[in-house]
Amino acid sequence: MSALADQTILVTGAFRGIGAACAEALAERGARVIASDIVPPKETFARLAPHRKGHVTLVGDVSDEASVVAMFREIDHAAPAITGVVHCAGIIHEKPLLETTVEEFDKVQRINLRGTFLVGREVLRRLDGREGCVLLTASDLGVSGRETFSPYVASKHGVMGLMRSWAKEFAPHIRVNALCPGPIDTDMLGASSMSPQWRARELDIPAARFGKPAEVAAMAAFLMGPEAGFITGQGIGVNGGSVMP
Ligand code: NAD
Repeated sequence: MSALADQTILVTGAFRGIGAACAEALAERGARVIASDIVPPKETFARLAPHRKGHVTLVGDVSDEASVVAMFREIDHAAPAITGVVHCAGIIHEKPLLETTVEEFDKVQRINLRGTFLVGREVLRRLDGREGCVLLTASDLGVSGRETFSPYVASKHGVMGLMRSWAKEFAPHIRVNALCPGPIDTDMLGASSMSPQWRARELDIPAARFGKPAEVAAMAAFLMGPEAGFITGQGIGVNGGSVMP
């Protein structure tokens, strides 16, 4: 029997990148997937379809409370009770601090941190009292710092704080963890348009390469499954050695 056959898992940010890879990996292992994004995740849905019937796609903005609540109302009607979430939706922001506006700072917090709070709260409301699993997405920058990325770094440290607190608040039935990817080859990283200097800096890690979305997704699928039953409250690095806490 497939490892995740009895699970219905919401994946946010499922239009592309790590979220799309997670949706596919979960479906391959037998989960029913609810793939959501601010952009309709139609291509992801097409990749899920061969694995099982009953996958669902939704459109919603994770940073907007009304949109998140509406999305969960649809989830309540469209699928069996959810058993977990892999929350991947997020944005990056790179700028020297002294050029960063308050609007830019707020936008990063709104999507990365408030979005995690809103999605996590609705999932945990539904899981409370049952077995379940919440997997957030922080970053290797959620456990370190980096010049010219401070709003993003702050948002990901915030995600780690939510994760650690929820892991205690909802124990022992619900496990809460966070992925902490290093540089992963997605549109967000923009490897193809990076300057040679930037590329060299990103690749100055023990693995000396970018990670693949599928490598993060394999970890996500493991963490959502029964074999990870003793893992909670952890930020899990999939980072080629970029950070060694
Ligand atoms: P990506 O840009 O390829 O995908 C992000 C997805 O989030 C997109 O499909 C986008 O439409 C969606 N999204 C953005 N704002 C949204 C909103 N308000 N509501 C709903 N959906 C929204 O990025 P990725 O590289 O796949 O990153 C996924 C997650 O992994 C992010 O949280 C990111 O911070 C984190 N991460 C990525 C890397 C990396 O190197 N790629 C490293 C560490 C952490």
